[in-house]
Amino acid sequence: MWEKCIFIKLIKWSNYLFSIKFKADILKFIPGQFTILRIKIRNNYINRFYSYINSYKSKILELYIHKSGIVSNILYNIDKNNKIFYVTKKSYGNFILPNKKYNTLWMISSGTGIGPYISMLKSDFNKNNNFKYVKILHSIKYIKDFVYLYNIKKIINNYNNIELFIFVTKENIKNHFNKRITYFLKKNNLIKYFGRNINIYNDHIMICGNINIINDVINIIKNKNIDYINKNYKNIFTFEKYY
Ligand SMILES: Cc1cc2nc3c(=O)[nH]c(=O)nc-3n(C[C@H](O)[C@H](O)[C@H](O)COP(=O)(O)OP(=O)(O)OC[C@H]3O[C@@H](n4cnc5c(N)ncnc54)[C@H](O)[C@@H]3O)c2cc1C
Repeated sequence: MWEKCIFIKLIKWSNYLFSIKFKADILKFIPGQFTILRIKIRNNYINRFYSYINSYKSKILELYIHKSGIVSNILYNIDKNNKIFYVTKKSYGNFILPNKKYNTLWMISSGTGIGPYISMLKSDFNKNNNFKYVKILHSIKYIKDFVYLYNIKKIINNYNNIELFIFVTKENIKNHFNKRITYFLKKNNLIKYFGRNINIYNDHIMICGNINIINDVINIIKNKNIDYINKNYKNIFTFEKYY
């Protein structure tokens, strides 16, 4: 089950954000899925979940991590410490693109929750034309935290139906939204901000990040749609809770 990883590179974006690149003999994963990473601390093994952000075709695997506690701190210093860690042969999770036609796909995330979308965008995104419009809504505290901005812009420049909306919550940045995503989702006329309203019958909404953003987005959309109860919950939302 456990595959030993060959460490390639650590990129420290800031004193709390980093990416780690490595090779491991894993099975093909579906973009959006996560691995279980294992390290040995003293005589104990500790496991944590991390989403792959690379294309499923890439031999080099990549994780994008927020340094927050025990394991992420060790990984942040992995090039100095011992470089031994493992990932699971299989990858897991249902946070994957729906295999169905939708009018608009809303890809909502906060912080490192953008990771699974990066993998999706790098992996023949929308090759079956399932989504007529794609709206990526990403929230960060400071603009410098959007470390994959350039990569994402480069990918979406090849499409004429994907739009990126950036929400910077702790500083005022020109041409970006300076409040939380949920502040705008509560508004009545989303066309004004995003060019489209959310239609629970024709759209699909993906959310990745912490529990608050997931609950808040779901509740706002629920409250705005009286018919919501009649609709199957899982058909409208796909979400992944990081913490
Ligand atoms: C399915 C799944 C996929 C995940 N994918 C990723 C990923 O791609 N990148 C990633 O950074 N994390 C991801 N996480 C969270 C990750 O598994 C760990 O929980 C996280 O790295 C903290 O572990 P730790 O040992 O460093 O901290 P711990 O010692 O376990 O302490 C946890 C602390 O970290 C905070 N925390 C956990 N995750 C984050 C985060 N992403 N941003 C800010 N604060 C956080 C918690 O609130 C808590 O305060 C994922 C979690 C799940 C369930």
